[in-house]
Amino acid sequence: MQFKDNSYTPELHEECGIFGIYDLDGKDVASTIYYGLFALQHRGQESCGIAVSDTNGPLGKVKSHKGMGLVSEVFSPENLEVLEGNIGVGHVRYSTAGESMIHNTQPLVLNYAKGTLALAHNGNLVNTPELKRELEYSGAIFQTTIDTEVMAYHIARERLHSETIEEAVVKTMPKLSGAYSIAVMSPRKLIGARDPLGFHPLVIGKLENAYILASETAALNAVDADFVRDVLPGEVVMIDEEGIHSDTSNCTTKHATCIFEYIYFARPDTHIDGVSVYNSRIMAGRILAQTHPVEADVVVGVPDSGNAAALGFALQSGIPFGMAFVKNSYVGRTFIKPKQAMRESSVRIKLNVLPEVVAGKRVVMIDDSIVRGTTSANIVKMLKKAGATEVHVRISSPPFLNPCYYGTDIPTGDHLIARHYSVDQIKDRIGADSLGYLSIDRLSDLVKGDTGFCDACFTGNYPIDPPKGDIRGEHDV
Ligand code: AMP
Repeated sequence: MQFKDNSYTPELHEECGIFGIYDLDGKDVASTIYYGLFALQHRGQESCGIAVSDTNGPLGKVKSHKGMGLVSEVFSPENLEVLEGNIGVGHVRYSTAGESMIHNTQPLVLNYAKGTLALAHNGNLVNTPELKRELEYSGAIFQTTIDTEVMAYHIARERLHSETIEEAVVKTMPKLSGAYSIAVMSPRKLIGARDPLGFHPLVIGKLENAYILASETAALNAVDADFVRDVLPGEVVMIDEEGIHSDTSNCTTKHATCIFEYIYFARPDTHIDGVSVYNSRIMAGRILAQTHPVEADVVVGVPDSGNAAALGFALQSGIPFGMAFVKNSYVGRTFIKPKQAMRESSVRIKLNVLPEVVAGKRVVMIDDSIVRGTTSANIVKMLKKAGATEVHVRISSPPFLNPCYYGTDIPTGDHLIARHYSVDQIKDRIGADSLGYLSIDRLSDLVKGDTGFCDACFTGNYPIDPPKGDIRGEHDV
């Protein structure tokens, strides 16, 4: 589900969303970026920003606006109007810290010997300390604490020994270890790159004579653009006045797309590497119905990501699907968070149960994950209070056992309920009548057609060695 209020899922953090566009006809792009970011809001609600420049104006003059809060809170018609330019990048972000981290908002705009760069990043590097040390010993001073700045520095430095900015990106990539989908704006080019393992998505779209780079296909739909294709893992694409160019010299055959993108992060109307997120969630629900069947009267999904899995469970089991929850999505940054004593009702402010659907019934409740167990416990309690006679919880992912180092903020082992308790004990702790998780060996059924995925948070099989120290918390996603 997609509540990102700390009173609800304490210290959990979501990834970032990026959106870049180059209009070859010279039309302003800021409002298209705004709508693109609006469609990617689920990927980060803490801060957002847009940077634009005019390929026909003074070279390297970048205008940007960034701020803490939702896209609709940070941007107004007035501040969008002054963002004139036909090339631009935008970013939504979930940070690990609050207001004081305004300097960490993206896109990062950097002036260097060859001009200006604006960079938007989704993912997390695992070798930031090494990369940073190398730069600091050659005199670099950092203004932020994000790995994105370290990456931007390396690209800028590489540019001094490269013919073009895209060549600099290609040459920087082998130094970077970890997850990164990036959109880079130089004065006359828009560049997109995806790490060789392809942890996070990045797609290319086209809207009339404009090329777009976006985290999800749903953002292309939102601005009425056509989907062109996914950026390949390891690929660098460059868009200039002649169109789109590609470099695949960093591509390999080993891929590790984040499986949690399908289970939770991405919107159901997104396709990643040719796989429909909606279909993979339906499949997860079907598998749960086969592997953890139960006699019940209604199947309900915890909004938003539990809904498609609940439908899959209902289709497979024949138990009717019900809409048990009414969600209030208007929880912006200015929402006054209830005090500790009101925590439970705070859940109800955002999510209310319809007794009409569950009273007197045996309910199957589907959610995408249990991290600490707080959410499931609260919702089971709410369902029972609304009159459910039994609540059977089914989770469309395996138990979370390991932290993620590639951009998903999963808390350290200590906080992961599945590290400390058996399934039966968790069932008791969340107050459910039964509990069933998706099994690890069925994960591949969710992404049939994908060329390889990362499930380290469930299995501990990290495709890139985790860093020695804990980089999470120091760097944001
Ligand atoms: P918990 O209450 O700690 O068990 O958290 C479980 C809930 O958090 C589920 O409803 C998930 O949809 C949601 N969730 C899982 N992973 C994340 C994440 N990385 N960021 C924010 N929410 C998440």
